[in-house]
Amino acid sequence: MKLIIHGGFFSESLTNQEIKKAKQDALAEIVTLGHKYLQSHTAVETVVYTVSLLEDCDLFNAGTGSQIQSDGKIRLSASLMDGKTQKFSGVINIEDVKNPICIAEKLMPFDDRVLSGKGAQDFARENGFNHYSPETPQRRKEYDQKLSDSIRLGTVGCVALDVFGNLAAATSTGGKGFEIPGRVSDSATTAGNFANAFAGISCTGVGEDIVSGAVASTIVIRVTDAMPLALATEKTLNELKPFDGFAGIIGISAAGEVYHADTHPYMVWALYDDGVEVFA
Ligand code: ASP
Repeated sequence: MKLIIHGGFFSESLTNQEIKKAKQDALAEIVTLGHKYLQSHTAVETVVYTVSLLEDCDLFNAGTGSQIQSDGKIRLSASLMDGKTQKFSGVINIEDVKNPICIAEKLMPFDDRVLSGKGAQDFARENGFNHYSPETPQRRKEYDQKLSDSIRLGTVGCVALDVFGNLAAATSTGGKGFEIPGRVSDSATTAGNFANAFAGISCTGVGEDIVSGAVASTIVIRVTDAMPLALATEKTLNELKPFDGFAGIIGISAAGEVYHADTHPYMVWALYDDGVEVFA
């Protein structure tokens, strides 16, 4: 059993060690809770649970505390992939919900498994997800100050390998902040979140770059074709270099390999293997 999570990239560490420490502490607590949950739940149940905890933590740009977009609204995207069934479900640019990853989970048994905008919101309401504003005073302050020139990322993700040897991946984001309404993040695509019987990957970074490199699915397919996880990840990240792609990865393979890599510093992530380890 293995569990790895990330809290995306962040810029605060450059100026604010306190926020960096708070994010590391939050990741340590959440990875511990997630690992405990994994003892008695499947990989797919565990990644949903763990990402919902990350969404509820307002330090990260997912669920509560998400970035505000250029028109003053918050739109959330999240996806889930079950490596066992190879089914992918997700919501794109949904408004006024608390845990988009739980709506992605709800969509899993349906034929139409990726919904966007108003359709996603209508589905959520019909399935008991009540109105909830994910806005926090801190995000409103940032928006009011129009801090659009700083890197304000902080997407969350989780990959789990359960006791049965099954893998799952989940990723959730409020987007990159100040984007044009309607912009689609990588997080609810197979470029940002992918799993099969061989590997699971969750990405963070600049969505357009991650989509250009088809990052998560490319790494997983390379592992499927017998490449070690570390090599598959490095090779895929190397392919982003010609366009200076910005991406961070967490992954687990069915063989039990666990790997993290990023193209730029200041990604925060945590691993529960033999014990908790937090990195930034
Ligand atoms: N990948 C996300 C996006 O482009 C942002 C992030 O990872 O922080 O929307």
